[in-house]
Amino acid sequence: NNVSRLGGDEFCVLSKPYETKQDCIDEGMMFAQRLLDTIKEIYIIDEHHLYISASIGVSLINNLKMKANTFIKEADIAMYEAKSQGRDGIILFNDALSMRVERKLEIEQLLHFALKNNEITLKYQPQLNTKEEVIGCEVLVRWHNEKLGNVGPNEFIPISEQTGLILELGYFILEESFKTLQEWDQKGIMIDQMSINISMRQLLHHNFIHDVQTLCKTYLNPQLCKKIVFEMTETSVAEDIQALVKNINILKNDGIRFSIDDFGTGYSSLSYLRQIPIDELKIDRSFIMELEKSQEGRTMVKTIINIAQNLHLSIVAEGVENEFQKDFLINNGCDILQGFYFDEALDKANITVKMVLSTRG
Ligand code: C2E
Ligand code: CA
Ligand code: CA
Repeated sequence: NNVSRLGGDEFCVLSKPYETKQDCIDEGMMFAQRLLDTIKEIYIIDEHHLYISASIGVSLINNLKMKANTFIKEADIAMYEAKSQGRDGIILFNDALSMRVERKLEIEQLLHFALKNNEITLKYQPQLNTKEEVIGCEVLVRWHNEKLGNVGPNEFIPISEQTGLILELGYFILEESFKTLQEWDQKGIMIDQMSINISMRQLLHHNFIHDVQTLCKTYLNPQLCKKIVFEMTETSVAEDIQALVKNINILKNDGIRFSIDDFGTGYSSLSYLRQIPIDELKIDRSFIMELEKSQEGRTMVKTIINIAQNLHLSIVAEGVENEFQKDFLINNGCDILQGFYFDEALDKANITVKMVLSTRG
């Protein structure tokens, strides 16, 4: 075997040729495993115990015309996949992987121009009280690109978070939402809340507070500011809880409320509730889906509602799709409901009409 260093902590091992493709895969994977096991042994240097882990990507040369660059790129893609699956693993390069990487790259490139090309729009999903009156909405971002068609936020938001584009995108979403709230106020439409999804990366950025305060001053009066709810998901925080709590408290001082989105799906929900000064809790759709299915599912939702009530938090159920779920939630003390049973996310003109009807009717 030939070993070379590609740079930094990346190394490349090139094996000798094998008779068949299967032999090559088997030997390659076995070798990678041996390598991993060896690396994982504890090193004792000057009485220090050192632990090292590695991620290994395996790629095959089954065509003599294959360029060295291509081979290394494939191994690299497989290595990054192993890394993102939690390190200490081995991944064999495959076509599905390659397609995923290519789509991601394409999204990354096209998303870069999306704002400038007016491809980003906002939709608004109604939120209702237990009397089934519209009392607010959640802002949901949409992206339509000429080449890719509609790309869902579940796909492009994580990419924009990785590239940092979320900062620019998030600012646009905030400004558009605030303008909408101002417009509704001028039309005499009264709502209790407008919920806006905020990514952790945005919330922890040093400009965020200043941006939000400036936008508030530009578009909203202090009363309107109190309608704003920022929804955050609990997946990625942990690291900088203190900075997070500090930022939240500054904005809460201006009247902005905070909500934990997808409650129950993260790994530290309960410790979050203790540490973060939130106002609202959103029960994730996966729990609502269980309501008709099992007693455990119903108990779970009742328990979450109980926790929220004991902590004096407002509680929103998302993904309400049928009457059974609606009735159960209302009967068990949930305050606000949102889901396809009532409405999907609507464009501004449609939700505006709906709000005019519901606030005057
Ligand atoms: P989320 O915040 O949990 O948003 C709820 C998602 O569930 C939305 O999908 C919504 O359309 C969908 N939904 C609502 N009611 C129902 C229902 O009854 N049944 C089903 N099956 N689905 C329902 P969407 O718009 O595709 O958004 C997906 C995720 O993308 C959001 O999850 C949120 O995490 C993220 N996202 C969306 N807009 C923004 C944004 O402006 N900023 C940031 N940072 N993230 C956003
Ligand atoms: Ca949300
Ligand atoms: Ca959610």
